[in-house]
Amino acid sequence: MNEQVRVRFAPSPTGALHIGGGHTALFNWLWARHNKGRLILRIEDTDRLRSTKEYEDTIMAGMKWLGLDWDEGPDIGGEYGPYRQSERLELYHKYAQQLVDEGKAYMEGPAIIYRVPHGKKLVFDDVVYGHIEVMSETLKDIVLIKSDGMPTYNYAVVVDDHCMDITYVIRGEDHISNTPKQILVYDALGWEVPKFAHLPMILGKDKKKLSKRHGATSVYEYRDQGFIPEGIFNFLAILGWSAGDEKEVFSREEAVELFDLSRVTKKAAVFDTDKLHYINQEHLKTMEPYERLDLVEPFWRETGLPVDDHSREYLAAALTLLGGRGRTTREAAHYSDYLITFDVVKERYDASDVDEDNRKILNLFFAEFLGLENWSIEEMEDFTRNWAKERELKVKNLLMPMRWAITGVKVSPGIFEVADFLGKDEVKRRLEFYNFI
Ligand code: GLU
Repeated sequence: MNEQVRVRFAPSPTGALHIGGGHTALFNWLWARHNKGRLILRIEDTDRLRSTKEYEDTIMAGMKWLGLDWDEGPDIGGEYGPYRQSERLELYHKYAQQLVDEGKAYMEGPAIIYRVPHGKKLVFDDVVYGHIEVMSETLKDIVLIKSDGMPTYNYAVVVDDHCMDITYVIRGEDHISNTPKQILVYDALGWEVPKFAHLPMILGKDKKKLSKRHGATSVYEYRDQGFIPEGIFNFLAILGWSAGDEKEVFSREEAVELFDLSRVTKKAAVFDTDKLHYINQEHLKTMEPYERLDLVEPFWRETGLPVDDHSREYLAAALTLLGGRGRTTREAAHYSDYLITFDVVKERYDASDVDEDNRKILNLFFAEFLGLENWSIEEMEDFTRNWAKERELKVKNLLMPMRWAITGVKVSPGIFEVADFLGKDEVKRRLEFYNFI
């Protein structure tokens, strides 16, 4: 048997790459990369009615977006091709015919059916689920080739996994019940059985199987919500697997290094969106400014902000000022919108909370504040504290209106840092608009 680890991700192109598929793809990828083995992408498109080339393309694009590459597949070829089941029909017919010739299968019209022998104990030691035994008489005869000439899943998967020299079959736990049937086919053809590692089910927070009811299901929906590949990658990696210690946030390289199939748990994994947000934010924080800019910019544009009024230097600096705020790129775009245009502030804030007495105080304060010779964070800070102290005012009473007039939000980076970033003229313009000067 081949010494090299060969695993495969075998999606049916009947929908976009969903969370469960991405999870399976990721675990196969991790195991391949950890062992310096190979990941094969095989398209299981025998359902001619539901399979489309578009879905095949979105699945591949979804994998690439997650940073999962493969070593053999329909797009790049390889020694074991073709990699679409619809292009391998001859092979399925050849082995089915062999079983008919040997008297192990029978024909029913154009269909070919495997006759399940009685009294056979079908055994496998799942890497995750442990020892599993099924008696053959509990199984019905297995259709190999349907009357339309197409192979069934349980048959084609065996022919392919064998012919492609797959050493580990890593897939969702919903396939555990298929495994004994597949083992029967391996045995009938006299083939060695690969190792199986079934991955735990993914549940929503309500402990029900993850589905549309829980919100987004396709990987692309998460992208569109502002999750970044590193965040989703990391989050999916710890669904059903842990590195052993408390460590939950890691890079791709660290995951490859640490990953071990034997540490995958069979306990169903809960898809915790709070954790996803947290992990995404941790990765977003550590990103290079320009890299972050590329990811945030589309969200500014989506809400119609005049991004082109600014240089890339300015925009990247705006995100640096924002710091680690925002759990997603969408939130980061939203939390920094006032750095792109004053218009959003005007929409959010009308200064109706400031009464006449307060306005008089603010007028006096800002007149002097804008007269500061040195427009530095330190000087703004010192001046404001002293000014408030001399008049026995709370600093907050000066800073809150200032924050609102400049940003239109309650929470932002330090307001003097924002003022410094926007520059004196822009700050003046904003304060003037609210008659604060
Ligand atoms: N096409 C099957 C699926 O998407 C593959 C299952 C397997 O990995 O054996 O569920």
